[in-house]
Amino acid sequence: MPAVPTTPFPASTILGYPRIGPDRELKRALERYWDGGSTAEELRAAGARIRERTWRRLDALGLAAAPCNTFSYYDQVLDTAVMLGAVPGRHRGASALDTYFAMARGTRDVPPLRMTKWFDTNYHYIVPEIGPDTVFTPDPGKPVAELREARALGFETRPVVVGPVTFLLLSQPAPGAPERFAPLDRLGDVLDAYERLLAALAAEGAAWVQLDEPALVADRTGAELDAVRQAYERLGSRADRPGLFVASYFGDLGEALPVLAGTPVEAVGVDLVRGRTPVEALGDALAGKTVVAGVVSGRDVWRTDRDRALDRLRVLRERVERVVVSTSCSLQHVPHSLEPETGLDPALVARMAFADEKVTEVVELAALLATAPPVAGGEPGESGAPEEPGEPEESGGTRRTGGSGEVLAGPVPPAEAHPAPAVTPPVWESRSPYAVRAAAQAEHLGLPPLPVTTIGSFPQTGELRAARAAFAAGELDEGAYEERVRAEIERAVRLQERLGLDVLVHGEPERNDMVQYFAEHLDGFAVTRHGWVQSYGSRCTRPPILHGDVGRPAPITVRWAEYARSLTGRPVKGILTGPVTIVAWSFVRDDLPLREVAFQVADAVRAEIADLEAAGISIVQVDEPALRELMPLRRAGQGAYLHWAVAAYRRATSGVDDRTQIHTHLCYSDADQILAAIDALDADVTSVESARSRGRILGEPMVRDFARGLGPGVYDIHSPRVPGPEEVGDLLDAVLRALPAERVWVNPDCGLKTRTYAQVEAALANVVTAARRLRETL
Ligand code: GLN
Ligand code: ZN
Repeated sequence: MPAVPTTPFPASTILGYPRIGPDRELKRALERYWDGGSTAEELRAAGARIRERTWRRLDALGLAAAPCNTFSYYDQVLDTAVMLGAVPGRHRGASALDTYFAMARGTRDVPPLRMTKWFDTNYHYIVPEIGPDTVFTPDPGKPVAELREARALGFETRPVVVGPVTFLLLSQPAPGAPERFAPLDRLGDVLDAYERLLAALAAEGAAWVQLDEPALVADRTGAELDAVRQAYERLGSRADRPGLFVASYFGDLGEALPVLAGTPVEAVGVDLVRGRTPVEALGDALAGKTVVAGVVSGRDVWRTDRDRALDRLRVLRERVERVVVSTSCSLQHVPHSLEPETGLDPALVARMAFADEKVTEVVELAALLATAPPVAGGEPGESGAPEEPGEPEESGGTRRTGGSGEVLAGPVPPAEAHPAPAVTPPVWESRSPYAVRAAAQAEHLGLPPLPVTTIGSFPQTGELRAARAAFAAGELDEGAYEERVRAEIERAVRLQERLGLDVLVHGEPERNDMVQYFAEHLDGFAVTRHGWVQSYGSRCTRPPILHGDVGRPAPITVRWAEYARSLTGRPVKGILTGPVTIVAWSFVRDDLPLREVAFQVADAVRAEIADLEAAGISIVQVDEPALRELMPLRRAGQGAYLHWAVAAYRRATSGVDDRTQIHTHLCYSDADQILAAIDALDADVTSVESARSRGRILGEPMVRDFARGLGPGVYDIHSPRVPGPEEVGDLLDAVLRALPAERVWVNPDCGLKTRTYAQVEAALANVVTAARRLRETL
């Protein structure tokens, strides 16, 4: 075997770091560039400043080994596609940067690549297209440049790239690929490209490279495991390469563990927060390797239990070549730092850690481990490390295990892990049969066939955002702010009337975010000032901290919906965020099972719906775009998850009169995978993303059997492109071929808040035109 690596892995590291910048510098730089307000040079300079700040910060915090190439102008999977030269011909532009952003965002003429969720997180990656004819022209320019850039600043770093197996498993077949083609069929060619990348990094003097393989923590077929074996045997057999560090995260390696262990990779990263494999078993399997032990969570905002982490690190150390203290995954999923959060309750802050505080925890644990004596008794296995059965967060169904609820060696069934404090017994019950409700609603609402509606939000204009900021800063009084919100509602309502939509919305101008807004009005939540986390591209969210019992002290949305209703004779749809999405997009307390927390939120939503109904709102949409996101990555935990998720939704929505129409909305092209669960939500109307994924959902056999109203999106709102009336008409034609017309609703893929009024007005006009044209043919 070749004599690599020569440098031992440093004692502490992290798998990745937020790249948006503590003041969202990247967001601002990107948006300025996209708007034509800055040059490519200025954008590059902004990126360089963020990277420099990151390396200096990690160094100042005492981290032994910083990563590089964790920065991205948009997304790390997109970066990998570009690095391999897997660029669809239709996206090639005048410059490399134009090509890159064409793939990510589309152009006036060409839609972008599909975007979907990164495993069970709220981060979205760009889905590469790989076909039988894709020519790989590897260009290691970006990781090499970052390596050099860090070195020029005095830092030796470890390039991070998405590993070949995960890259191919996350890719989709290019348009026109034969039916039986799978991107993984191209493994051999992709490995050629990775070999060249590794050689280039070795030539640059990189001691280690991190290949991210989170796809290995999901159920994998025998053929896929063979691909893992083949990939790492081949990459490992080269002499001209850095040390290979394969990072797994978001769960257990399971069957992939012995496979990876049998390859020549020198280091393996394991997620000890989400993973349930006992450290003894992990250590035995990885005996000859460096183990990068993810003991500090990259997915929550809570402090690490130091004693327990240290115990586990010590047990591992007895069994493997070397232990490196690390985060469970990249820190890109948590905000930069707690430092600016001066408004939070100090008692809460004392329990919390954001990225920088987590880096400090990693550094402190590494120092403790260095001086910690060997495990008592010295006998591996008799460490007395009691952590496995009694793990504090192990109540299946808390956020931590909710994401990877499979139990490899998990001895504790969820319900017993936490004798749950008394919660209200389930009050959700079924509504009347759909046919009965549908008749009552048809009579009450009197809608035309193919009713046209939107998903809720209208553009959030610069003035509106400025007014909200001024209100928050105390520069604008409440009365003046509310006047502003009312003016926006009126603008949205008038526009919808003018365009001829059938079911109107108030446009959500009062909401900074669909989860944060509710968090600010419910008990049990805290919100941060700068706790931004990248969602996709330049988009960030500020997940609230759900730390206590949830309650609704007063109605939240009712007066805005009522105001919209007072302006028009057409039906107005009230819009709420569902309980599953609220917990999915918050950082949730980990002392209660997640489902108990979701039920508390459901009760608050139920009370809000009752108040909307009492105020004369006959249609209420309860959004659950995150329903799919929380699904455990392994099949074993999925049934139990969907059961409580559906229960939470129905608990929220089942209290209404037959005449009241309940809608739900899901997006990010994941609805096709959980149609049975969506059906079980029992909503009268479901809108789903479809335009962006080119109608993929319409090919699902279950769609035809879907019993209730369905609105597959006919306008991709993630792109600034305005689809023409023919394009919308074609999409709607496809919907009508897949579904009986009486069940079809016409709507965009998602809310319109990221678009401009000019785009929205033009696009919705085309949507209405297409719907009317087809209505006449019915
Ligand atoms: N009602 C929300 C909106 O229109 C839904 C957003 C979402 O699904 N992500 O903005
Ligand atoms: Zn949506």
